[in-house]
Amino acid sequence: NNFKKLGLSNAVLKSIDEHGFESPSAIQEKSIPLILAGEDVIAGAATGSGKTLAFASGILQNSEKGKGIQALILTPTRELAEQVANSFREFSKYDPLNIVSIYGGVGINPQIKELKNAEVVVGTPGRLLDHISRNTIKFNNVKTLAIDEADHMFDMGFKVDVEKIIKECPQKRQTLLFSATITKDVVQLSRKYMKNPVRVSV
Ligand code: AMP
Repeated sequence: NNFKKLGLSNAVLKSIDEHGFESPSAIQEKSIPLILAGEDVIAGAATGSGKTLAFASGILQNSEKGKGIQALILTPTRELAEQVANSFREFSKYDPLNIVSIYGGVGINPQIKELKNAEVVVGTPGRLLDHISRNTIKFNNVKTLAIDEADHMFDMGFKVDVEKIIKECPQKRQTLLFSATITKDVVQLSRKYMKNPVRVSV
């Protein structure tokens, strides 16, 4: 299929094939090679653009079983956290990783247990900070930090929380930022926390 030329592994390609996706969407075509190359990326992409597979495929390929939390994906809502985590699970079918979603409104103890074996964490800011203060989550192995729907994150007042979480991640990391609109806040965040980000839009 046409995803092959983007540099994706056979395991990821096989799961994409199974979904019946024949060609990458524009955002996938532009961002996947950059993500695989380790670049920081600011992607202007709305829901429906295929943004989730764009970052999930790159992140999955750069993560390995048993090496701690290597990717952290921040989402503004629990619904989006679940949706994104499920995409990660579907596309890691042939090279399974432990994908854990973290959000409030549910018990914290099952999350604490799950976090012990997590390789990818998808979560909302409030509950993630809760785990940070309880010392039940460690970001020292994080290689990629992705912020999904960054504009909504700001709309919902998560600016301070997001910055606190970013500061918990290693300085040497890849940062990906996906947002339907590239607002002033988004640009400011990228200037503060991203390294030579490549901007792509569709
Ligand atoms: P998203 O923008 O991540 O919310 O994805 C929107 C929808 O497009 C999801 O239901 C995906 O399963 C689907 N999708 C993602 N990539 C492709 C693709 N390359 N071809 C067809 N459908 C896709």
